Amino acid sequence: KEYTADVVVIGAGGAGLAAAVTANQEGASVIVIEKMPKVGGNTILAGGALNAVDEGSETAIANKDSVELHYTQTYEGGDKQGDQELVRTLVTNAWDGVEWLQSLGMEFKEGTFTVLGGMWPRAHKPVEPVGTGFFNAYQNYIDSNENIDLYLEVTAKEFIVEDGKVVGVIAEGKTGNKITLHANNGVVLATGGFGQNVEMRQEYNTLWANLDESIKSTNHAGATGDGIIMAEAVGAELVQMGNIQLLPMGDPETGSLSGNIEMGVENRIFVNDEGNRFVDEGARRDVMTTALFEQPNSHMWVILDSHDYPTGDEVNNFNESINQLVKDGRAFKGDTLEELAEQIGVDPANLVKAVEGFNTHVADKSADEFGRTLYQDPIDQGPYYAGARIPTVHHTMGGVKINTDAQVISTTGDIIPGLYAAGEVTGGIHGANRLGGNALTDTVVFGRIAGASAAQAK
Ligand code: ADP
Repeated sequence: KEYTADVVVIGAGGAGLAAAVTANQEGASVIVIEKMPKVGGNTILAGGALNAVDEGSETAIANKDSVELHYTQTYEGGDKQGDQELVRTLVTNAWDGVEWLQSLGMEFKEGTFTVLGGMWPRAHKPVEPVGTGFFNAYQNYIDSNENIDLYLEVTAKEFIVEDGKVVGVIAEGKTGNKITLHANNGVVLATGGFGQNVEMRQEYNTLWANLDESIKSTNHAGATGDGIIMAEAVGAELVQMGNIQLLPMGDPETGSLSGNIEMGVENRIFVNDEGNRFVDEGARRDVMTTALFEQPNSHMWVILDSHDYPTGDEVNNFNESINQLVKDGRAFKGDTLEELAEQIGVDPANLVKAVEGFNTHVADKSADEFGRTLYQDPIDQGPYYAGARIPTVHHTMGGVKINTDAQVISTTGDIIPGLYAAGEVTGGIHGANRLGGNALTDTVVFGRIAGASAAQAK
């Protein structure tokens, strides 16, 4: 079968659909192909919150936040490896992205908060759980507009190149049938990362001792790096492929973020299997994960109390209540810390000491021995809760090189005509460590830029 559109988008995750909607708003006809049976990719599994500073707003002023601070923290938080122009583009267009999402009907909660490893309270939390709010808004746009079509279970295989320009995509349908997609203006590559591709992880990883299959991932099954391989085949430069982000928050069985009992980053501590704290729980993601790898069994417990769970029916990001998690044996509950320690098999005296030490710093807001300054409530109201967590592969920060117009750059430093990319498939924005809350911002900001650039191209 053959299809033609002005813009062909590969991948129906956050970046792909932001690009598709934008290209259509710019007047282009659009076809999106998605290899999985549903939209969403990693984006729908994410916490859902995105960093953006509404410069000069009451919230930003109250938090002493600014676009400049967002820039500095993003750049420095990535060990200054990110491309400065791309980082600048990310932060200056972030709030505009939120307003655009609102114009599509997406709703956000009041105020802002800090994401794990996000370093500052500048994340906007959607009303709908995890990343579903994005996709309800995008799907609604697709359903109610002309000339924008989405095909599921269609896998892109290679680009069609004519005279050095990308003019289409060869894809495969569910039964292995060949599908040819012609793009009048351009192709947007938005296939996400390679967190589930163990071979690629091992080939490229430079930050961790080992990322073989023993290390699980938060990612959806389709995060296999297809787009990176396709882009490389047409001469795209790959940048910072070794920069792979892990989180210390994986479910011990699956590696996913589900079952995480933390409700916010302020009120919980991490203890190892001996019941001792070992890291600033408000630190960078790489710092926390590195510390976790050094603990016995590379295994830890998230400990908190009833401040975040007044009734036990409150749900986490995945719509799981703590009562249910306890019932399922995925979390533990004790009326006292000693009882909790008993249940999870850690030394009760150590756990009590860890919590008491933490509470003295909560009381006077002073930095503790790990440098933690992130506090809200003490841990002193039973019942107490614990949930197990392990290191897990979360985000691949390297990928296809782009410029600020989301055009893909070749190994010779030239623009590859007709090819645009956005989201996790790209590299060089987040450097060595991505701030929590910046990935969804990346999908919206660069997705929109890629969609607009492709729509306007000739
Ligand atoms: P991002 O956050 O960058 O948007 P996501 O992981 O959310 O990344 O989305 C990427 C999407 O691209 C996923 O839904 C994934 O299944 C899809 N995808 C990956 N490879 C292909 C491919 N070869 N053809 C079509 N879709 C693909």
